[in-house]
Amino acid sequence: MKTARLTYKEWISELSERYENKDDTEFVCPACGYHQTLKQCRDAGMSDGMIGFSCIGRVIEGSQDAFRANKKGPCNYAGGGLFKLNPVLVIYPENDKEIEVGVFDVAERPFCDDPRFAIPESKKVG
Ligand SMILES: [Zn+2]
Repeated sequence: MKTARLTYKEWISELSERYENKDDTEFVCPACGYHQTLKQCRDAGMSDGMIGFSCIGRVIEGSQDAFRANKKGPCNYAGGGLFKLNPVLVIYPENDKEIEVGVFDVAERPFCDDPRFAIPESKKVG
């Protein structure tokens, strides 16, 4: 699986470069491949902390199970669950240390395809 790693500052500036209107930011669920915009997620009732972290299917009735073979989203995938699939690692400063949070990639020029954010083989875990 492809991954990417960037700082929170880089992530925000890269996102605004890709999507002039923040509402149009289009996340791709790593479990089902379903595309969901920031606006769609908000309209569906997701909190900002869930958007781009868990699939929009979590708040839509009748969504499919994230780990079933038939992948046709939306699904109930949650980034905080046992299986960590979120491919983009964003580094947030927290007090005097840094924390890494895995988020969804985006549809427009995916971070995982950008060599600037590639994780060197030696730093990969798992
Ligand atoms: Zn999904």
